[in-house]
Amino acid sequence: MSAPHRSWIEVSLGTIAANFRAVRQLVNPDVEVCPVVKADAYRHGAVEVSRRLEREGARWLAVSSLQEGIALRNSGARSRILVMADFLPAAREEFFRFNLTPVIHSLDDLAALDRLAASKGISFPYHLKIDSGMGRLGVLAPGEQIVDAVCGARSAVLEGLMTHFASAADYISTQTDEQIETFEGVYAKLAACTAPPPLVHMSSTIAVAYGRRQAWRTMVRPGHALYGYVSPVRVRSNDTPPVKELAVEPALSWKAALLLVKDVPAGARIGYGGMYRTETPIRIGIVAAGYADGIPHRLSNKGRFIADGQWAPILGAVSMDVTTIDLSASPHLRPGDPVTLLGSEGDLRQDAQQMARAAGTISYSLLCGIGARVPRIFVD
Ligand SMILES: *Cc1c(COP(=O)(O)O)cnc(C)c1O
Repeated sequence: MSAPHRSWIEVSLGTIAANFRAVRQLVNPDVEVCPVVKADAYRHGAVEVSRRLEREGARWLAVSSLQEGIALRNSGARSRILVMADFLPAAREEFFRFNLTPVIHSLDDLAALDRLAASKGISFPYHLKIDSGMGRLGVLAPGEQIVDAVCGARSAVLEGLMTHFASAADYISTQTDEQIETFEGVYAKLAACTAPPPLVHMSSTIAVAYGRRQAWRTMVRPGHALYGYVSPVRVRSNDTPPVKELAVEPALSWKAALLLVKDVPAGARIGYGGMYRTETPIRIGIVAAGYADGIPHRLSNKGRFIADGQWAPILGAVSMDVTTIDLSASPHLRPGDPVTLLGSEGDLRQDAQQMARAAGTISYSLLCGIGARVPRIFVD
């Protein structure tokens, strides 16, 4: 097979759809599943992924920024779109223009939204995020103040109450339980003056996958799981770990072409800084992907790809545009042949968690970091 590009990713929309169905099946029909398609769907392609998920029945989509929400709306997305990671004050008007739903993170901002909706003479739904202990985005105010602000608003209507966990994967820490308790305290106080918001949500992938049911409430927000990943949890060594109840499959594979194959003698230095020196004569391959394509520089002399169904260790520094691998175990490969960075070949498989671990980073960062110049091919 001859590679169609220097380097490319293949995204299986069918796998993403199956992962979405797996989440829906686990949480059962009364829990709304809001797929998180921020950061270009973790680089899987927000427009195509969203279109497919809408076909699967998704009624909500979550993004980080207004720009991401507007791009989806302009692509024809008809779902409700939740903009989660706040916005600049000057952009508030855009929520109305594009029918996007803001997550509000401060009571001042709630008042401003209320005034704007009132000036247009309409009711406008929003979700309110409570900082229940993560110490990042979200309202951190006494419950009474939150209640006053929510119930004092006339035109901004509370549709969702949400929070986000800081340590969902850490079953040694009690932080998640504390966050749930804080959040539920605010929820209970709100009942004093208003009907409960229909959407109450706390859980992203980990709280879904490991069955933390009390955090599911009426909506969940999985991202990573849709793309086929669930991070491992931390437990005390003699505690039983929680059961992973969700089975998902990675939807993205990443390939690159060999540009050059050559035999080098013993003692040859490979790449910048001569970081690797051959001990014996070996065959090397120069692969058409480097850190500008998203291969972590930290994989220098550490990571590996799959070449002709065999492990091919990275030799020397990962450069901007190319990476050198040891092809000794796969002597049949020629320039133009593809190798696998992420995905499977023969019996071998490398996923983003494995590559990320080798690089000392996380799979989220690795996926989002796949470069914009790497073309994407959609398969079913
Ligand atoms: C990114 C994000 C999610 C999705 O998290 P995953 O771990 O990818 O499932 C959910 N909620 C918020 C607020 C987020 O920022």
